[in-house]
Amino acid sequence: MPTYKIAIVGAGPAGYFTAQAFQKAQTEELSFSIDLIERLPTPWGLVRSGVAPDHPKIKTVSKVFEKIAKEPNFRLFANVELGKDISLKDLKEQYDAVVLATGASKGRKLGIPGEDLTNSLSAADFVPWYNAHPDYVNTEIDLSGDTAVVIGAGNVAMDVARILAIDPTELDSTDIADHALAKLKQSNVRTVIICGRRGPEHAAFTAPELRDLPKLENTNVCIDSQQIQDAQARVAELSEIEKDLKNNLEAMRSIAHHPKKDVERKLEIKFLVSPIEFKGNNKIKEVIFIKNKVEGSKIVSSGEKFSIKCGLVISAIGYDSVEYPGITIENGRINNIAGHVEHNIYTTGWAKRGPTGLIGTNKSDSTDVVELIIENLKEPKLSEGITSLLKSGHEVIDQLAWERINASEVVSGTILGKPRLKESSRYKLKKLAGYN
Ligand code: NAP
Repeated sequence: MPTYKIAIVGAGPAGYFTAQAFQKAQTEELSFSIDLIERLPTPWGLVRSGVAPDHPKIKTVSKVFEKIAKEPNFRLFANVELGKDISLKDLKEQYDAVVLATGASKGRKLGIPGEDLTNSLSAADFVPWYNAHPDYVNTEIDLSGDTAVVIGAGNVAMDVARILAIDPTELDSTDIADHALAKLKQSNVRTVIICGRRGPEHAAFTAPELRDLPKLENTNVCIDSQQIQDAQARVAELSEIEKDLKNNLEAMRSIAHHPKKDVERKLEIKFLVSPIEFKGNNKIKEVIFIKNKVEGSKIVSSGEKFSIKCGLVISAIGYDSVEYPGITIENGRINNIAGHVEHNIYTTGWAKRGPTGLIGTNKSDSTDVVELIIENLKEPKLSEGITSLLKSGHEVIDQLAWERINASEVVSGTILGKPRLKESSRYKLKKLAGYN
């Protein structure tokens, strides 16, 4: 029975679902040996460093990942970086197929004046900071101002705004990075304003996330009810209204009609406003916006400007994939056709299709790519795979080593009433894994 060697790069949801698709595709005539390669000492990608700490249910997908990892044809090679510890060229030679599930981690830029002022950050830097990603522990963020502006009307903007607006004691029982929780407890931010450039009917939030907002115990969530009413009227004129859109608008209408009184924290969602300039003296002090209006199916500028004084801006307007040797990026994604990059190299997940969809979207995406790979497979290679590529003594974190880290974090968290206490130092993670 031929066994094909598969290298998957990136141990996030797309990487695990690709491994699972290969496992499911095995037959009596066809088998795969799967090596999942990850640059960080820890796997799980955005499930660990992206999903908001107050959304633990979403993280339960990690149980599926651990089940995939228990299969005998699966090996984890964490703490191994493509482009540094191994090259794409070597992987291409050693493996029958290489799947790049490397995601999209670079925050998109607005391209407006003042964007690079101090305390104007991308969600791409802020989210991994509060989620204990080792590369973002030192993200500089000043929470001394009372107002923060979040640009974008998607679920990332919502996560970011919620983390800034929530009473931090509500995060005590979560796995938020301890450095972030300590800083949020010192924060002066009391008003957070999400700014979307289009109307409520075009917001990229999803209804479950919107419905979660009123559950914030100490934060008043505000939306202008007139904006929702206008959006509902526009939508009513459509020949067909999608269920998701209807649910979204209903969730927003409910928020608009149920203000929370006697709380000092506020999270406001403003629609139809585009930032045109960030102003400040080194540090951000003010965002200048232009109001937009809906004309037919178009959003046009009304020409009317206004400003919001603030001490912090976070842009959450999407992500691009990062470039590495051997890979070209086009429109923020790895250049590919239906997941095929070139020769025996493939891509899946956000690296393939851009930063869209929920965690589960990666499952169907990866299944499609695996089907394509299987169609294209030739004779299996007689090669040694990754072990011949890594320098001797390289501190690989394999599945057992990761399980040591995982168990230690869970135990430390349990003592504190948290699901886990995440370690963010690479050095300490390696120690937990068993390296001295
Ligand atoms: P997203 O859903 O694409 O939202 C991006 C937002 O940025 C949109 O409102 C977009 O507005 C806006 N935007 C883009 N360019 C802009 C510009 N130049 N000026 C002003 N606004 C601009 O992206 P995301 O929030 O980063 O989320 C990525 C994916 O992860 C999504 O599929 C999301 O659902 C998912 N996610 C899910 C969860 C969850 O399930 N809890 C949590 C986080 C993320 P336009 O629509 O006008 O372009």
